[in-house]
Amino acid sequence: SKNTPNLDNFWMPFTANRQFKAAPRLLAGAEGMYYTDIDGNKVLDGTAGLWCVNAGHGRKKIVQAVERQLSMLDYAPTFQMGHPVAFDFATRLAANAPGGASAGLDRVFFTGSGSESVDTALKIAIAYQRAIGQGTRTRIIGREKGYHGVGFGGISVGGLVNNRRVFPQIPADHMRHTLDLERNAFTRGLPAHGVELAEDLERLVALHGAETIAAVIVEPMSGSAGVILPPKGYLERLRAIADKHGILLIFDEVITGFGRLGTPFATDYFGVIPDLVTTAKGITNGTIPMGAVFASRKVHDGLMTGPENAIELFHGYTYSGHPVACAAGLATLDIYEEEGLLTRASELAEDWQEALHSLKGLPHVVDIRNLGLVGAVELASRDGAPGARAYDVFVDCFHKGLLIRVTGDIIALSPPLVIEKEQIGTIVSILGDALKRAA
Ligand code: PMP
Repeated sequence: SKNTPNLDNFWMPFTANRQFKAAPRLLAGAEGMYYTDIDGNKVLDGTAGLWCVNAGHGRKKIVQAVERQLSMLDYAPTFQMGHPVAFDFATRLAANAPGGASAGLDRVFFTGSGSESVDTALKIAIAYQRAIGQGTRTRIIGREKGYHGVGFGGISVGGLVNNRRVFPQIPADHMRHTLDLERNAFTRGLPAHGVELAEDLERLVALHGAETIAAVIVEPMSGSAGVILPPKGYLERLRAIADKHGILLIFDEVITGFGRLGTPFATDYFGVIPDLVTTAKGITNGTIPMGAVFASRKVHDGLMTGPENAIELFHGYTYSGHPVACAAGLATLDIYEEEGLLTRASELAEDWQEALHSLKGLPHVVDIRNLGLVGAVELASRDGAPGARAYDVFVDCFHKGLLIRVTGDIIALSPPLVIEKEQIGTIVSILGDALKRAA
């Protein structure tokens, strides 16, 4: 297009350049459910940006809050000086913490991203164990196919091999993942079978010794691995095994937090209360980078007041509790509350489920999964080229006005929670047509 910038010297390592030159796609604007590309074409956002723009794009209330805050106090070092908006936002988050008031997950630590939230939660877990006299507990157990961001902490507990294979020095212990495609194929909602996969945690405890394990971290619903849903009872079982052995349970809710499943957090959806919850993305509706870790009072108090407490331990980021991000977050929570968005996915979940499952039987489709306003359509690999077919479908959809996400052979969908039923129909119809055309 005549609007495409000069790409001759284009180089941003690890980013869009991987596939960009072959099929440039440049987004220039966004409003509500739609992006606009550089040529003015409208593209329906089927992925809420990257699982983060839950209230839809261009929300004026957030824009105004950011502008106001930026001109009043543009920056303050929160871990050193403090400023009212960080306390206001922490208080507001604490009052709406995962699991409700009885869960006690109302101690809040601010970060700048999901990866930072994960690093922070891992450090809190190990430091807490040490503070309560369990200093040998330094091991973290992650899950095969778990995704926890790209920091060294996140990749060391993450299970997506591609993200860590060139860093062999990073230690990690993995549980099995929860997916059993053959038995769970085309399941609507949670798989009925597979709860026994949680017993793998017992195996790892026996292998390493409980006295070496600080925590286990899982996404309540795996997102980046391609939307892998936990079998019924699986998270409950993990909680029970962790409790039995003095192991902390961390839920990585970077994707599931802020309404994605139809409850404020996945913690609420499953009714299983972890010790730490990581968040980011939807916390500011994807606008200003930010994350937050919720810690239980037990963990917080042990960490800060135990015999080897963390009062002298330094941990904090330049942008922890950034005033502009906090202002964006407060405005975001206002919108979520005023518009009932944290439960809207539950109102749409059935329509969403039926719409997605109507794609069953189309060429190449080997599985369809859904939960809340999350969906996955898994395709058969084209011979010798894993992921190539899904990528073709992705490009086709984009040119027909729909943004989807592909990870390997899996198409992931997670539209903004403000989506209308008619737009659910549009997603399925554009995607369905692209599948019929796919080679
Ligand atoms: N944890 C999970 C579950 C995620 O999905 C992501 C990002 N997709 C992250 C952590 C990392 O977040 P960020 O990209 O903001 O660092």
